[in-house]
Amino acid sequence: MSKKLVVIGNGMAPGRALERLLDQAPEAYEITIFNAEPRVNYDRIMLSPVLSGEKTYQDILIHDDAWYEKHGITLKKGCKVTAIDCAGKTVTGADGSVAAYDKLLIATGSAPFIIPVPGKDLEGVLAYRDLDDVEAMLAAAEKGGSAVVIGGGLLGLEAAAGLKERGMDVTVLHLMPTLMERQLDTAAGYLLERAIEARGIKVVTGANTHEIVGDGKVEAVRLDDGTEIPADIVVMAVGIRPNAGLAKEAGLEVNRGIVVDDAMQTSDPDIFAVGECVEHRGHCYGLVAPLYEMAKVVAERLLDKEAGYEGSVTSTRLKVTGIDLFSAGDFAEGKDREEIVLRDAAGGIYKRLVVRDDKLIGIVLYGDTRDGAWFFQLMKDETPIGEMRETLIFGQNYAGGSPLDPTAAVAALPDDAEICGCNGVCKSSIVGAITEHGLTSIDGVRARTKASASCGSCTGLVEQLMSLTLGEGFTPGAVQPMCGCTDLGHDDVRRLIVAKELKSIPAVMQELEWKTSCGCAKCRPALNFYLIADWPGEYQDDYQSRFINERVHANIQKDGTYSVVPRMWGGMTSSAELRAIADVVDKFGIPTVKVTGGQRIDLLGVPKENLPAVWADLNAAGMVSGHAYAKGLRTVKTCVGTDWCRFGTQDSTGLGVKLEKMLWGSWTPHKVKLAVSGCPRNCAEATCKDIGVVCVDSGYEIHVGGAAGMHVKGTELLCTVPTEEEALEYCAAITQLYREQGRYLERIYKWMDRVGLDAIREQVVEDEARRTALFEKFLYSQRFAQRDPWAERVAGTDSHEFTPLNRIAAREAAE
Ligand SMILES: Cc1cc2nc3c(=O)[nH]c(=O)nc-3n(C[C@H](O)[C@H](O)[C@H](O)COP(=O)(O)OP(=O)(O)OC[C@H]3O[C@@H](n4cnc5c(N)ncnc54)[C@H](O)[C@@H]3O)c2cc1C
Ligand code: SF4
Ligand code: SF4
Repeated sequence: MSKKLVVIGNGMAPGRALERLLDQAPEAYEITIFNAEPRVNYDRIMLSPVLSGEKTYQDILIHDDAWYEKHGITLKKGCKVTAIDCAGKTVTGADGSVAAYDKLLIATGSAPFIIPVPGKDLEGVLAYRDLDDVEAMLAAAEKGGSAVVIGGGLLGLEAAAGLKERGMDVTVLHLMPTLMERQLDTAAGYLLERAIEARGIKVVTGANTHEIVGDGKVEAVRLDDGTEIPADIVVMAVGIRPNAGLAKEAGLEVNRGIVVDDAMQTSDPDIFAVGECVEHRGHCYGLVAPLYEMAKVVAERLLDKEAGYEGSVTSTRLKVTGIDLFSAGDFAEGKDREEIVLRDAAGGIYKRLVVRDDKLIGIVLYGDTRDGAWFFQLMKDETPIGEMRETLIFGQNYAGGSPLDPTAAVAALPDDAEICGCNGVCKSSIVGAITEHGLTSIDGVRARTKASASCGSCTGLVEQLMSLTLGEGFTPGAVQPMCGCTDLGHDDVRRLIVAKELKSIPAVMQELEWKTSCGCAKCRPALNFYLIADWPGEYQDDYQSRFINERVHANIQKDGTYSVVPRMWGGMTSSAELRAIADVVDKFGIPTVKVTGGQRIDLLGVPKENLPAVWADLNAAGMVSGHAYAKGLRTVKTCVGTDWCRFGTQDSTGLGVKLEKMLWGSWTPHKVKLAVSGCPRNCAEATCKDIGVVCVDSGYEIHVGGAAGMHVKGTELLCTVPTEEEALEYCAAITQLYREQGRYLERIYKWMDRVGLDAIREQVVEDEARRTALFEKFLYSQRFAQRDPWAERVAGTDSHEFTPLNRIAAREAAE
């Protein structure tokens, strides 16, 4: 008589295991399946096409009723197992039925995780796991209205795309800054977000759900920042948890999932487990490929054959029609790895391969995933890639081919090959223009043909064409690339950020075809500044792209402690401020207090973890950050002017305070220091500052381009203006012009040397409309910049920066 096999759960994993078992030994077991879902085994992966209308439930059945009948399997649909008796070798169903087993296979899968926010139990809050969920979504979609999907991972995006297809107004809320961050890097995440938004789905990243609002039924989702998004349904797709409770109650070993060995055996030798409910070698899986590998092993083991499961390497694809992405392996950045990146801005393609020790360890493909399977195989097989490295990124068709010399490659292109995609300029037009008009510079070619004048990504190709046509007569333009991640110089990057309306770092990198996935320590801070300067109010500062001092809002000192400099407007202070500073010094045992050259008080020797508490006390006394660490306005130094000095011609202190109150908080390419002297005796040393004002009887001399660091340089006189108001306007206009034209880390005097004092005078002094526009633009951007970074950190922003490492380690170990 055959032995009894009881299976708990009727998903894809046990389905595959049974197929293999029945193939080999149809009579070996008398099989009973308990399934909590009231249906047969279907392809859960294909629920999304059912939701979007591309398939029906009938299309996705794996085993229909006839299959169970044919194999003599008893399928108890809609019958949940409530208990396992390991000693008595029986299971009990919710209907009271008891089934005895010789071998038991647990395949209870996973349950969707529901975030424990108020309102999670309201009518209209759905998960996305089974056909019932899909049917509930379809019923809601029939009425139209709005859907909010919480979770921008694989399932969330598929649900969002499906609901949109069904006519709903859909918003995706995602906690992290980019979508599918566990499978995609930021570059691919950016492209994905763009593609999702192009379908009319709204995406809100960095969105933390605070509450689901409604009276008995969902009405809206409220975020931490108070935003409310109307919703008729809310789909939670934020992750899954293995269904291991039943096994745990039965006394089996359970961690995150049901613990199994390589034979898929649980801690009870007669009980096997398979699928998403298991934990194997510390891993729980949420994709079907590894489950099928486990299923193979379990089938063999149930027949007492040798087989072992050793874990799986997984890959991901998104099943949203028209969006091609593939990812596998480990694509985190790291010192021990190199990356090969290919970007095609016009084609929306991004490919990144991560290599360690001559082997592929990570793959991210977006837009063109044809070679995904081939790369994946190379990764799984640990194939050395050295020999095909040069052409690897182009895929299997090019593997092992020798790389073409770039000029030879351009020579081989046909005359009608399109070189500049943006402006549709072909090879023969460029070559014709070069020979006909004797062009020798890239600017000349741009002006004549428009090639490389828009996105600039074909600049390299155009240069190769020039080199081919002019031979030795061509020396490529002396544009210094920003860094090794791009061939474009700072000015081109800035021009293109504005022209192409690029508003995030990943957008710049993709559209300008960066050669690396995430940039480097040179280009990231520069891009962050350019984006802040060009898109005030729209671009969110990427604090990760800042240097340490700007990240922690204090200057690091040689012993690893920090210095704290509160702002003192125009160098003025008061007894109350000095008392508060003295109290802070005593309270925190600050070892050194120093007056700086910029007329500020510097508290030196503050440990990083004390910074927020020190700032809190200074904030309480009305003081804000002095930005002594910033590529931005540092100080405005003043003399006492007409208030006290018998030589003073104007209120230099008052003007200094007004200037500092107008300019503080602004980000600039490099640090900016100002000074205002009340007369030409110049006690505030205004003529060696970035911008200096020297008061004279007839008004205010505006000086620019001084420096007193490694290079000492006197300022140049820009102009003299009669009123204080004009002095303020001119200083702001100069600062704004510098923000727009200065290259990152270029001081004002270097910028002035490059563009010429006359060019600055033309725009700030002679062209009134331009000056007004610069002034207004500056004031507008200050609306978003004048936030005290100390107060923000005291309130909790970036708190991890200030947590000592040993405390972080202890917390992580506890998780
Ligand atoms: C919408 C969606 C899209 C997906 N897309 C992909 C994809 O593109 N690629 C991919 O690889 N994977 C995808 N997955 C994941 C994949 O579907 C799962 O990994 C796979 O279905 C898990 O199979 P399983 O047999 O372990 O568990 P499940 O399929 O979850 O089956 C478990 C079954 O056990 C039943 N059960 C639970 N407890 C009991 C009990 N006590 N008694 C009786 N029955 C019980 C449940 O009702 C359920 O029917 C997707 C999943 C979803 C939901
Ligand atoms: S700069 Fe002139 S006004 Fe100012 S303190 Fe010196 S002498 Fe007096
Ligand atoms: S002058 Fe040199 S040593 Fe002195 S604080 Fe500045 S950087 Fe340090």
